[in-house]
Amino acid sequence: MIRENVRQILNTLPSGVELVAAAKMRSPGEILEAIEAGVKIIGENYVQEAERAYALIGNRAKWHFIGHLQRNKVKKAVKLFDMIETVDSEDIAAEIDEKCRQLNKVMPVLVEINSGREKQKSGVLPEDAEDLIRTISNLHNIKVEGLMTMGPLFDNPEEARPCFAETKKLFERIKKLGLPNVEMRCLSMGMTDSYTVAVEEGANIVRIGTRIFGERP
Ligand SMILES: *Cc1c(COP(=O)(O)O)cnc(C)c1O
Repeated sequence: MIRENVRQILNTLPSGVELVAAAKMRSPGEILEAIEAGVKIIGENYVQEAERAYALIGNRAKWHFIGHLQRNKVKKAVKLFDMIETVDSEDIAAEIDEKCRQLNKVMPVLVEINSGREKQKSGVLPEDAEDLIRTISNLHNIKVEGLMTMGPLFDNPEEARPCFAETKKLFERIKKLGLPNVEMRCLSMGMTDSYTVAVEEGANIVRIGTRIFGERP
């Protein structure tokens, strides 16, 4: 099943769009099956869960952090992950920078945008993104490489389209600023129900869980 699902998705994604397999609550065996079917990037929401999977799978895939990152998990996260997609505050950026400095490493990050302007959601508001990115651009051990957004969950993914379109616009605007130490190349938007719409609106990374692994247990 997983194998077939991955092949179908990879066959239908336009070239240049990367697939992140969102693996929360999946076993290392399931993750390995996805990798064997062609998945190159695993997305993890929880540092502890990622550590367990990483211990068995290691560098057979790239690892993206896609959950809400807590300060006290940053030290472990920067050791394990190849990219952190969910930076949404100066505070967490500074902590990532500091922990990477100790490891002599530069962490590629995406800035998470709260494109639905939802009160309880993480992410920076679209109008605050430029200031945050300017601040991060002054840090030496963290590098902004694009934007990520979840968007609100609607029954009809068409309703999320304006949020994806606004995030894409913001992406292009910040790219044009040509900020030092900022390389706007990744736009991570879209999940199982919304990825087709997200790709139409310019996503070049999609994060898919259910469509690969089935309903979560
Ligand atoms: C779970 C999750 C996904 C994937 O969701 P599905 O609807 O299962 O495809 C994508 N992005 C993030 C941040 C997630 O937590």
